[in-house]
Amino acid sequence: MKRNVAKASIGTKAVWAGEEESPPGSSTQVPIVQSVTFGYENLDEWRDVALGHRVGHIYSRNTNPTVSAFEGKVRGLEGAEASTSFASGMAAVTNTVFALLKSGDRVVTIKDTYGGTNQFFREFLPKIGIEVRMCDTTNPDQMEEEIGKGCRLVYLETPTNPTLKVVDISRVAKAAHDSGAVVVTDNTFATPVNQLPLKLGSDMVLHSASKFLGGHADALGGVVCGPREMVKQVFHYREITGAALDPFAAYLLVRGLKTLQLRVERQNANAMKIAEYLEEHPGVAEVHYPGLGSHPQHDVARRQMHGGYGGVLSFVLKGGYRAVRRFLPRLALAHRAANLGAVETTVGPPSTTSHVEVSARNRAAMGIPEALVRYSAGIEDADDLLSDLKRALSV
Ligand SMILES: *Cc1c(COP(=O)(O)O)cnc(C)c1O
Repeated sequence: MKRNVAKASIGTKAVWAGEEESPPGSSTQVPIVQSVTFGYENLDEWRDVALGHRVGHIYSRNTNPTVSAFEGKVRGLEGAEASTSFASGMAAVTNTVFALLKSGDRVVTIKDTYGGTNQFFREFLPKIGIEVRMCDTTNPDQMEEEIGKGCRLVYLETPTNPTLKVVDISRVAKAAHDSGAVVVTDNTFATPVNQLPLKLGSDMVLHSASKFLGGHADALGGVVCGPREMVKQVFHYREITGAALDPFAAYLLVRGLKTLQLRVERQNANAMKIAEYLEEHPGVAEVHYPGLGSHPQHDVARRQMHGGYGGVLSFVLKGGYRAVRRFLPRLALAHRAANLGAVETTVGPPSTTSHVEVSARNRAAMGIPEALVRYSAGIEDADDLLSDLKRALSV
């Protein structure tokens, strides 16, 4: 039986999207098709599949059944027409941007993109004659003005990493469309449980699947979703340049995605409680979390995010980096690692995590203090996480 979950709610889509048809051999689970290539006895059939006149697979750099199931699941969750996947989130970012742009084009983006994305915009696009204008993330007037000067692409990320700034997607998308530009939004932090950029006017949405989508910090991957023709353009670039997702990683991501809603709802709740606790703590100078009423873009976040405000927050300790060095090793219920979105709580300073690619000088220019701690709440019990924080902060 072919299931149709297009109109189902997010929890149902997480379980069933991408698995509308039963896999061959009566298995109930998406099989790991660990095969580079696919063979055909009938040459006419082979040619028809190769030309796209018939459904099927030819070579796993192009398409693979396990990888297709992953793409279908995320496509369903984001409510998109089409999707394609990549070996990592950065492959999703770079392949999408390279596929959409050519020399002489102009890009408008924000200063607070993920470290790797930021470095890509600073280092690699100017090298091939693409002008990049990085705007103040929380200044939509400046973004509108820069977009009005003409650009081919507007690249957004919200909430941002690691200071959880929020960009008004619909407002910026409107300005972009008035100027004939396309909008790409990195939805890694919010996940489709909390935010649907395509509904807010973004043309494409992309993810590092290595974070919340997979959720178990055991597989790298990336994905982009959007209108069929645009995704086709990005897919074509990726099938030639080769940053394809591995079938085993795709299997782990499919498995992780089934519990996406359960995990993210818990992480939303944990992060909210922790942010409220830290805001009152005398050892903490600042807390960044879009769910707090004190967050400068809380109203925008409330309008464009629906399920919650995500599992990641960050805070600045009084006492500078020395305080961070004393505090972080005292946390028992946390990995100190360059990751986020996993079932385990994961913490780290941006100088070794999100912005390791960025120099200390550029981090300072980006408003990322060395005493900042990024905290990605896992699915542990909130009370245990709060006691752990309380103990670690008591020095
Ligand atoms: C981690 C991350 C990326 C890069 O993803 P990788 O899978 O590590 O390549 C891109 N954007 C955001 C917001 C991220 O957190």
